[in-house]
Amino acid sequence: MANHNDYLCETHRKYGDTTIYFPLSPARYCCVNCEKKNIGGYTNPDHVSNPFGYCYLSPSLCIDCSIKDKKCMWCN
Ligand SMILES: [Zn+2]
Ligand SMILES: [Zn+2]
Repeated sequence: MANHNDYLCETHRKYGDTTIYFPLSPARYCCVNCEKKNIGGYTNPDHVSNPFGYCYLSPSLCIDCSIKDKKCMWCN
């Protein structure tokens, strides 16, 4: 079974590695590909070092599309 983290690009690979990076909020964002509202917010690993940054992030693609298209879910 493919894991969406296998398709992370160089820039976003760190998001797949870190354990503090996990879905934080229920699905509230729409996927840019399938337009389904099934993307949750994720904790922002940069937030700790930058308290004025966003406390969570949302990917552009849902996990389903990331795996199907073999694309990094954080790039668009
Ligand atoms: Zn999608
Ligand atoms: Zn990426």
